[in-house]
Amino acid sequence: MRVLGIETTCDETAAAIVGVDRAGEAKILSNEILSQIAAHAAYGGVVPEIAARAHVEAIDRIVARAFETAGLKVSEIDAIAAAAGPGLVGGVMVGLTSAKAIALVTGKPFIAVNHLEGHALTARLTDDVAFPYLLLLVSGGHTQLLAVRGVGDYLRLGTTIDDAVGEAFDKIAKMLGLPYPGGPSVEREALNGDSERFEFPRPMSGRPKPDFSLSGLKTAVRLMAERIAPLSDRDVADLCASFQAAVVDVLVDRTRAGLRACREAGISPSTLVVAGGVAANQAIRSGLTRLATEAGLPMVAPPLALCGDNGAMIAWAGLERLRLGLIDDMGALARPRWPLDEIKAAG
Ligand code: ATP
Ligand code: MG
Ligand code: FE
Repeated sequence: MRVLGIETTCDETAAAIVGVDRAGEAKILSNEILSQIAAHAAYGGVVPEIAARAHVEAIDRIVARAFETAGLKVSEIDAIAAAAGPGLVGGVMVGLTSAKAIALVTGKPFIAVNHLEGHALTARLTDDVAFPYLLLLVSGGHTQLLAVRGVGDYLRLGTTIDDAVGEAFDKIAKMLGLPYPGGPSVEREALNGDSERFEFPRPMSGRPKPDFSLSGLKTAVRLMAERIAPLSDRDVADLCASFQAAVVDVLVDRTRAGLRACREAGISPSTLVVAGGVAANQAIRSGLTRLATEAGLPMVAPPLALCGDNGAMIAWAGLERLRLGLIDDMGALARPRWPLDEIKAAG
C-alpha cells in the first residue's frame, strides 16, 4: 500500500510517498521539500500572499520529484492525501486542488488530512508506537497535550491560553535580531549561553490542568533585553539560554500534569511522544526523555527531518486513514481552523 502526501499549509511545499510492505513495515519512498525560508526571511515571518504564490510555482515540480525519487508511476500508488488545514488558506488550496486533480484523473481515493494529525501520527511511521499515547504537540501555531487514542480519536487535555511555543521562539529571535526561523537560531545561541544568568518565570507551573502560557515569559525576556541594552553577543547568548531553560522546565512540568490528567481520564499511555517543529530542539528532547524515564515510559521524538512540516507526515496520516477506509470526497474544503478533536474518526 502506497500513498502520496502533499503539504502546503505554511511555507514548505512538500510531497512524499510512503508505503507499507506485506509485513506491515512502513517506509518513506520519497520525501521532497522546498522551503520558502529565503522568500520570507526579509519580513521576519511568513507572508501569506508570497507563500501561496510560491506554492503554485513549485507544486507540480515537487510532486513530479516525489514520483521520480521513489521510482514510481502515478498508477503505482493507492491514494492521494493532502493537508486540508489548519493553515494559510491560499497555500492549503494549492495542495488540496493538486491532490484532488490527481485523484480525479487516476480514479484513486482522495484523503483530506488534518496537518496536526500528520504531526501527531509521525511517531508511528518511524517507531512502533501503540495507541493510546500522550502527545506533546509543539509547533509554530500550536502547543497542546493530547491523549491519542486512535486515528482521528484525540482527547485534548490542555492547550496554550496565549502564544504557541514555536511562536515564542520566533518572536524572541526577531526581538534579538537573530535570523528567521527563530527556533533553530535561539537554540544555536543558547549552546554558548549561561542558562542561569537570568531567572525567567515558569508560567502555569504546578497547576493541575495541563494548560500552557508563554506570553508572560516572552515579555520577561523583552523587558530584560531592554534593561541591559545595548546587547553584547554574550548577552544575546545568555538571554537565549535562560529563555530556553525556562521553556524546557515549563514543558516538562506541563507534560507531567498531562500524564496525571491521562491517568485521571482512565487512559494509560504506552509512550510519551513529542511532535511538531519545536520537537527538533535538543534541550526539549532531553528534558522530556528525563520525564519519561521518571514515569517509566519510553519517549519517542521523530527524527529531525520529520519534526518540521514535510510531505511524509501527510502521506503517513493518509495511509493510516486509508487502511481504516477513511476516505474523503471531492467536496472536502480547505479549513484554515481545524482543531484535532473535531476530526473524523474510525467506526
Ligand atoms: P502548525 O504545525 O502549528 O500549523 P507550523 O506548521 O508553522 O505550525 P512547524 O513547521 O510544525 O509549525 O514548526 C515550525 C516552528 O518550529 C517554528 O516556530 C520554529 O521556530 C520552530 N522550531 C524549529 N526548530 C526549532 C528548534 N530547534 N527549537 C525550537 N523551535 C524550533
Ligand atoms: Mg514551516
Ligand atoms: Fe506544522
